[in-house]
Amino acid sequence: MSDLRAFVGDLLERSGAIVEPSESQELAVLAPPSIQEQMGWPEFVRLGFGPERSHDAVAVGLEGDWMDRLAVLLRDNGRWSERELRLDGDTPVPQDLQRVLDHALDLPNAICRLRGVAETRARCLILTFRYTAVSDEKREGLIWLSFNTGTGANIDDLLEKLQPALAQMPQGGPPDPATELAAGPRWSGADIEARVRPLLDCRIREEIEPFLRAMQRRLARDCDRVHAYHDGLYRAAAKRLAALSGAAGEREEADRRRETMRLEAIEREHRAKLDDLRRNYALRVTVDWVQALELYVPVQRFEVLVRRRKGERLIQLDWHAAIKAAEAPLCEAGLGRERVRLVCDDKLHLTEFAAQDACSSCGKPFCRACFPAACPRCDSVQLTNFKGSERA
Ligand SMILES: [Zn+2]
Ligand SMILES: [Zn+2]
Repeated sequence: MSDLRAFVGDLLERSGAIVEPSESQELAVLAPPSIQEQMGWPEFVRLGFGPERSHDAVAVGLEGDWMDRLAVLLRDNGRWSERELRLDGDTPVPQDLQRVLDHALDLPNAICRLRGVAETRARCLILTFRYTAVSDEKREGLIWLSFNTGTGANIDDLLEKLQPALAQMPQGGPPDPATELAAGPRWSGADIEARVRPLLDCRIREEIEPFLRAMQRRLARDCDRVHAYHDGLYRAAAKRLAALSGAAGEREEADRRRETMRLEAIEREHRAKLDDLRRNYALRVTVDWVQALELYVPVQRFEVLVRRRKGERLIQLDWHAAIKAAEAPLCEAGLGRERVRLVCDDKLHLTEFAAQDACSSCGKPFCRACFPAACPRCDSVQLTNFKGSERA
């Protein structure tokens, strides 16, 4: 509750109100006309956040429509922010550079040489998304994706360690201009979308997996029940019809017609019930971007020469000084959630294994970073078979 009270107090102050904590769990608010209008409050209002409050206090809580009403005040504020993570003293350097590199970079079909290490600042783009999955039940959750825009690496695995470091850091202002300059240009909207889409797709599938499985179990159980019920009816009617076969007479003929119609009606009802179930259990997933944080961090940047056959290429890989950990190398096709990368022959792209697979149509292997749309030999469009991204 005290978190909520602090948030509401802060939000109201930023929106122009004068806020004073009164009693232990209340806020006394002097609201400007805009807030009075938006929230439907008088000029002076007392807000209560706990079970005990004064008789004239408005009870504010997580339940009800409070979050929606506060969101109106929040508007788009806080959607985008930037911070710089500053360390006390000098930026540390790893003791054994080669060991760090050997651990970070695993290239089974290429060799790599460390060219040098230099201290710089990296921009980590941390994006938050909210997903909502609705079928007969509802599941909501948040997903974070993070990238180093300097090296192109996905740093989701480092985020877990970076977040506590960030939480301990006193509120800082915007990054120094020198830091922003060192971090290089920002990604364009198209760059971000290209990187985010496949990862987000895969992460959401993983997140809703248990929800989906439980839903499919309920669906199967309901289908079985509907089937068993109609099967029983059908058998009984079919038995009656069989007993009537061979018997002559007008009345028997009428009975046969009735039982035949009954059988048809049972089948129709069975189909209709299954359609109902299908509608009831249809899954809809929506994903919204919620927030972006540009976090500037001190790094030691490794310049690494990658050699494959006659080609060579320079790549960069950052060692994050605040958490003393190296990021995984960039991955130019596929999700790249492990550290091992294959290097392509022509442009020395770093990709995950599946991104160098044989074409599913003509059988010739090709690089999905060189040819993202289709196989260069037979032009067949390839379904992604990257780890974790297969269709459910
Ligand atoms: Zn092909
Ligand atoms: Zn390639």
